[in-house]
Amino acid sequence: MFTECSEQLFGSSEHSHISCGVLGESVKPAAFEYRNSRDEDEVFDLLTKYGSEAKVLAGGQSLIPLMNFRLVKPSLVVDINGVSSLRGVKVSSSTLRLGALTRHVELETRPDVAQAAPLLSAVAPYIGHPQIRTRGTLGGSLSHADPSAELPAAMVALDATILVKGASEERRVQAEEFFKFHLTADLAVDELVVGVEIPVFGPNQGFGFREVSARFGDFATVGALAVLSVGPDGTVERSRVVCMAVGPKPIRIGSAESVLNGKQISPAILGEVAEAVAEALDPIADLKASASYKRRTAATLARRAVEEAWEMTAGRVS
Ligand SMILES: Cc1cc2nc3c(=O)[nH]c(=O)nc-3n(C[C@H](O)[C@H](O)[C@H](O)COP(=O)(O)OP(=O)(O)OC[C@H]3O[C@@H](n4cnc5c(N)ncnc54)[C@H](O)[C@@H]3O)c2cc1C
Repeated sequence: MFTECSEQLFGSSEHSHISCGVLGESVKPAAFEYRNSRDEDEVFDLLTKYGSEAKVLAGGQSLIPLMNFRLVKPSLVVDINGVSSLRGVKVSSSTLRLGALTRHVELETRPDVAQAAPLLSAVAPYIGHPQIRTRGTLGGSLSHADPSAELPAAMVALDATILVKGASEERRVQAEEFFKFHLTADLAVDELVVGVEIPVFGPNQGFGFREVSARFGDFATVGALAVLSVGPDGTVERSRVVCMAVGPKPIRIGSAESVLNGKQISPAILGEVAEAVAEALDPIADLKASASYKRRTAATLARRAVEEAWEMTAGRVS
């Protein structure tokens, strides 16, 4: 019976409304109804009607495990994979717009994404394994708001705007404001992430990304990202330094950015960046590492990410 239900969830079923409530004890998730929706308005109607009883299904790579462990027991699962308005990648001269249903593998492989936001193409291969990246979506990762996840941290580093929509209102939320706490985003139960907008990467910019995990493909134990905009004389005009897996959300290190802005990079400046990161963070130990390891490693990774970003700009600025 579970196979049948899974086929409805992940296959191309014609059925649009399936009750899984009759399934037997061998099924791991609690009983739920399934609605395969192709229309945004219908999704909003369902979310408004069911409130916290409903869950949106995108790639299912986080939701389904949570349901299988019965940590989440929605009475209704609304599959949004057929909603065409949530798809699409569009690049203008200044902005990359990614639909919520953009799969991780698209971030990893699309040349237009690599050109407009190369940091996304660089972090995507670190998300789980190929099977997960084939199903997992940008909107799902951002809504899930895991502080160890790559895409939320990348959105903060890239100054992305998260496009949020409900039945009666559309909101634009800066990525830094969107992630509130562990697995908590600025998203009401009747709202969807419909996409993101990211400033197109400029020729005077460089990025760095460093991550430590127990095995390649595991969630990060600690990570750091840096984005630098550099002037013609090599001075840092603007910087973003963000650490991941060191707190309840991606953490932007403003004090490290203050060290960088208006300066040319040198070993001394990089040392100051590491010190600023170590001072700013107050990580909590988890199953993967102690608080002290996380702080020290984040400082080292941030220094290396900034150096990497700086090296990327060398030769591009004259
Ligand atoms: C073994 C394994 C390893 C993984 N490793 C990593 C990793 O290293 N790094 C990493 O970042 N992730 C990792 N993931 C998670 C993966 O990135 C998921 O794809 C992602 O977290 C959720 O995306 P999804 O599309 O699968 O969302 P779903 O699982 O479908 O949904 C996740 C949550 O978001 C909600 N949601 C989904 N889409 C929207 C939307 N558009 N608007 C509002 N709410 C929405 C759902 O209701 C649900 O609450 C891993 C997953 C697995 C199973």
